[in-house]
Amino acid sequence: MSYDALVVAAHPDDAETQMGGTLATLTDAGQRILLVDLTDGEPTAFAAAGVRAQQAREAARMLSVDRMCLGFQDRFLADTQAARVAVAQLIRAHRPRWVYGTGEACVHPDHAAVVGLTRAAVFLARLGQWEQVPGGQPLADQEPWIVERLFFPHCKMEPPWGEFAFAVDVSAVYERKRQVLAAYTSIFARGGDHLLTLYEAEDQYYGRLLGVAHAEIFRSAAPLLVETPIVFSPAPQG
Ligand SMILES: [Zn+2]
Repeated sequence: MSYDALVVAAHPDDAETQMGGTLATLTDAGQRILLVDLTDGEPTAFAAAGVRAQQAREAARMLSVDRMCLGFQDRFLADTQAARVAVAQLIRAHRPRWVYGTGEACVHPDHAAVVGLTRAAVFLARLGQWEQVPGGQPLADQEPWIVERLFFPHCKMEPPWGEFAFAVDVSAVYERKRQVLAAYTSIFARGGDHLLTLYEAEDQYYGRLLGVAHAEIFRSAAPLLVETPIVFSPAPQG
């Protein structure tokens, strides 16, 4: 099955935390999205093994995205050949125009690993002659695929960004993002985890900069090109 976008994340809840509003906006517009968790995020703070996976399925349902887990080990995720090939295989199988690799430089080593391995996977997915490469056999039977854009949402475990490539106004879908994150009671305390209040404060801060209630920010692997500048929303300072 083909998808419009692939979202690569270390743990269930990373994509929702970093770009849950954007995911809701995209699927409301009819985009088909596959969310790829590299690990299952176990163990969790507040629940037995397996509960987080159930909650991840519920979050996917609420956001109308498909979801899968590649089964790498939580806490020891690394930018390895195996991880690069596994993600490149998914890219070639599902042929997305857009890939989102959550993470960017971050205090959590699992999140930090996502950046390099996703960048590498996007590049490896476009190459041929894998039958001549030791270890490249999993890619040899698939057609190359060129991803149009690779974006990175801001990870809330890293310092604020002074500059970013673009922001998405997620004000209209923000209540759904709140509900999706609140559903993860395996990792956020029931009844209003303070961390969730801080997460929302970041989305409000970037919204305030841009003149809307809530915004999610992104960096881009390459400079952005538009057909016409009239696609941009107005900004408070022009
Ligand atoms: Zn995480």
